[in-house]
Amino acid sequence: MKIILFDIDGTLIKAGGAGARALNHAVEAMTGHPEACKNIIWQGATDKTNFQNAFEAGSGRKPNKKEIAALTQKYVDRLPVEVLASVKAKKYLKVKGVEKFLIKLSGRKDVMVGLGTGNLKDGAFIKLEPSGLLKHFAFGGYGCDSHHRSEVLEKAVERAAKIACVKIKPGEVFVIGDTHRDVEAAKEAGYHSGAVLDGFGDPQLVMRSNPELMAKDFSNLKPWLIWLGLVKDPKGVRRGTYICPDSPIEHAHYGRTGMDLRDIETGMKKLREAKKKITG
Ligand SMILES: [Mg+2]
Repeated sequence: MKIILFDIDGTLIKAGGAGARALNHAVEAMTGHPEACKNIIWQGATDKTNFQNAFEAGSGRKPNKKEIAALTQKYVDRLPVEVLASVKAKKYLKVKGVEKFLIKLSGRKDVMVGLGTGNLKDGAFIKLEPSGLLKHFAFGGYGCDSHHRSEVLEKAVERAAKIACVKIKPGEVFVIGDTHRDVEAAKEAGYHSGAVLDGFGDPQLVMRSNPELMAKDFSNLKPWLIWLGLVKDPKGVRRGTYICPDSPIEHAHYGRTGMDLRDIETGMKKLREAKKKITG
């Protein structure tokens, strides 16, 4: 069984800032501060963390348990209004190709598709509602499960195992996100990681986090399906190790599909040609 976990914001949809507006509204109602979210760095943090930071930005002190519960309720109450406002303003978008991808995955018996998101469970459902994508997800790990993204993912896998009544090995789990935090969390849990570059992530940080697969979006499904092992790579897959004795890197492991190799081979050919021109 393969478990595929999708992040929400920037990976499935872009909700046009609805989450931040709803949280601002909730913090303002409790502290009077109108723009508590202004200086919060969202990228890949879970809602549990975001809510604490926003409250602290609004009130100047850490919230207690009761206040976090009240803030969460206010956020969830406000979120549908803000999501609807984004839809009306045509700022609610689905990431390119994601619907086709999910339909393809849903048709398979050897695959379980779930959510691995920093959003609260209620928040996740409200945000996904207008997209019509919700029906593809039978389970998930959510921002209310943990402060740590890797634990959120592990929780999702635990729920999948329960539903399917099978044991799931880390190597059978594939995490798809849009920030380096998604990638890092996947690696921390021992899962595979793939990233879309057209979301909210910083491309430099995403690249540095070194996911197994990077693509702009899902408009070309072939690399995604090859990565998931659902389609065979016509050129096969090579794995190995480079030794780099003259650099601070002692060794680097690689696993490349034939499709990547084609790019490397073209690059090497071009380099050789350029060298030949200079040396004759
Ligand atoms: Mg995201």
